[in-house]
Amino acid sequence: MPGLYFDALVRMVIEHSKASTWRLAVREWDVIGCEEDPARRRRCICGHESPVLRFTIKNRVTDSVLSPVSAECLQRFGREGISDDVDCWRRSFALMHLVERMEGAPAQSVDMRLLDAKLLRFLYDRGAFRPTGTDGFRSYNDYAFLVDMLGRSYISSDEQARVDAIVRDQIHPFLKAFASAVALRREPAGEGGPNAPKARTAPFRRISRWSRARNSVK
Ligand SMILES: [Zn+2]
Repeated sequence: MPGLYFDALVRMVIEHSKASTWRLAVREWDVIGCEEDPARRRRCICGHESPVLRFTIKNRVTDSVLSPVSAECLQRFGREGISDDVDCWRRSFALMHLVERMEGAPAQSVDMRLLDAKLLRFLYDRGAFRPTGTDGFRSYNDYAFLVDMLGRSYISSDEQARVDAIVRDQIHPFLKAFASAVALRREPAGEGGPNAPKARTAPFRRISRWSRARNSVK
């Protein structure tokens, strides 16, 4: 990425941040969404390339939103949380395309090697698992089931069928909606650290609220 474009990125980010230096300004931003555009119709805010994966970022201090931003530019932020999000979005879209190929070949199954704890957590935090049955806890149960399957050396055919069903019926429609929507995305859970607001630990709260609700049902 030529310096000219990096300078443009720095200018744009600082202009929409409270901090006035690049080093501090990058800490104010989160990835709030990603779209796939195979036709590469829009240029990154730096002016360099028109990326296939277009990210949207939001400043949690100024509420400014910048889009589209390429993965390459987001790597320049030098923040682990942002790089993790970029990686998870990239793999999410790869998973989405895999499911689409599976639709034409029903005998295929989801390869568990495509999933890991980080990606599942990323999808869970963004609401990819939803209650699909009468059991209100099903979305968490399905998430926990996939996490449990990760470390297994043997998966039975029933378990594989459940893995396939969760990916096909929950994760895939969720990603599909993201891929085609233009509306603002769900906020990320944040990456911790001294400046991360407490409210950004929503998934943990959600789990504990559910377990409380579960106890009160008894
Ligand atoms: Zn760029």
